[in-house]
Amino acid sequence: MEKQKLIAQGKAKSMYETDMAKTLLMEFRDDASAFDGKKISALNNKGKVNNQFNAFILNKLEEEGIETHFIKTISNNESLVKRLDMFPIECVVRNRATGSLCRRLGVEDGLILEPPLFEFFLKNDQLGDPLINENHILSFKWANQEEIDAMKSMTFKVNQILRQLFDQANLILVDYKLEFGKFENKILLGDEFTPDGCRLWDKDTLEKLDKDRFRQDLGDVIESYQEVANRLGIQINLD
Ligand code: 5GP
Repeated sequence: MEKQKLIAQGKAKSMYETDMAKTLLMEFRDDASAFDGKKISALNNKGKVNNQFNAFILNKLEEEGIETHFIKTISNNESLVKRLDMFPIECVVRNRATGSLCRRLGVEDGLILEPPLFEFFLKNDQLGDPLINENHILSFKWANQEEIDAMKSMTFKVNQILRQLFDQANLILVDYKLEFGKFENKILLGDEFTPDGCRLWDKDTLEKLDKDRFRQDLGDVIESYQEVANRLGIQINLD
């Protein structure tokens, strides 16, 4: 497999074409960013930890019947994925209120949400990823109803699977963001699932073990990601 042209560079990952049709190389870098790119920093080993964390979670989701873009890891910080045509949408499920939900609605931080709350956001840094609803998605033709329904049901199914997985590791899956795309007319889970895009709190102490440690300058960011990986039994190779 040959790494070819860089086709997209996000805040924490770079995507490269390969010599294999419909296959991209996803490189996890050590860069961390928050607040729509206003806060940026490099965190040692972040790329390796997140690549291997993501591989574990996406494999787990595949085992449980969620189709994803993930093919395999090819180095400690790189994976091969199917090339998707991405929807410009973020799907968020919240089991507890925190973050932007509390700022928007003034509700108590940590409030348990039963049923879990689903929200769509537009993926647009310049606009600060605004909250949108299904009507925006339909009217602007970002996705059709069938695609909306598929993204919603897959996002909720991920909640069932991962809530339980994290619970066994004495962690609360507070919320998370997923992104989807199309591949040969099928909707697949794309992007990543790492502590960069979800919130995980220790069940006993409610200590934050996710990217909020970076956003809120709490320190030990990657150490916390490694703690989560350890509790899930993920062997992270930092060579
Ligand atoms: P909030 O809307 O409270 O900022 O975020 C809700 C959840 O989605 C959190 O787990 C957060 O990490 C994730 N999330 C939302 N937007 C983004 C984003 O642009 N990048 C990343 N990495 N995660 C996001």
